Amino acid sequence: MSSEAERKMQFLYSLRSKGVNDNRILSVMEKIDRSDFVRGIFRDRAYEDMPLPIACGQTISQPSIVGMMTQALDLHPRHTVLEVGTGSGYQAAVLSHLARRVWTIDRHKRLSMDARRLLEGMNLTNVTVITGDGSFGLPDQAPFDRILVTAAAEDPPGPLLAQLREGGIMVVPVGQSDTVQSLIKVTRLAEGFDYEQLRPVRFVPLVEGLAQD
Ligand code: SAH
Repeated sequence: MSSEAERKMQFLYSLRSKGVNDNRILSVMEKIDRSDFVRGIFRDRAYEDMPLPIACGQTISQPSIVGMMTQALDLHPRHTVLEVGTGSGYQAAVLSHLARRVWTIDRHKRLSMDARRLLEGMNLTNVTVITGDGSFGLPDQAPFDRILVTAAAEDPPGPLLAQLREGGIMVVPVGQSDTVQSLIKVTRLAEGFDYEQLRPVRFVPLVEGLAQD
């Protein structure tokens, strides 16, 4: 077996061993080449289960966390999804194969431009990348069936809760940026919100306003 095929097998094995057992998600993550979303020396490490640096001082998440968050969203092919924190675009690429429509927003123009170019080059035509402050969501496109926040908020942002459809699910890391945060699954019920704590995680912070670089 080629070392490339071995690396991919190892990658899938590590996802499974960390609780990503949905075969649809595993086959999408097998198909998408994570090395397309990182640069330079880090490309060699794309199949390791670790976060890696990207531009603007941000990170592409650890693959098992991407898999686990995607699994927690319980996606259906007809869903419309909002992702806050495009970063490299990797998570958006995974979502695009599992949902009907994906909106993804980042406060760094450089990251959103790079991600847009990459996703367009992969013909993922159901993803729209937007530069903006995602903590306010995208009121024009709301409500969303699913919302995924890939940066840590002190609390689930109110505008995002308001843009979640009834029966919808939002997955968001909650807590201070320099500590271990808690990944929370919020379900919008007819009479309010249900909160479930999933696991400890570590994400870069959700920062207000557009970035200057
Ligand atoms: N999902 C990404 C990783 C996200 S890293 C991937 O698959 O690669 C977190 C991202 O959240 C960073 O790119 C950061 O710029 C972005 N971010 C932080 N605060 C934000 C905000 N208020 N609005 C939009 N994006 C934000």
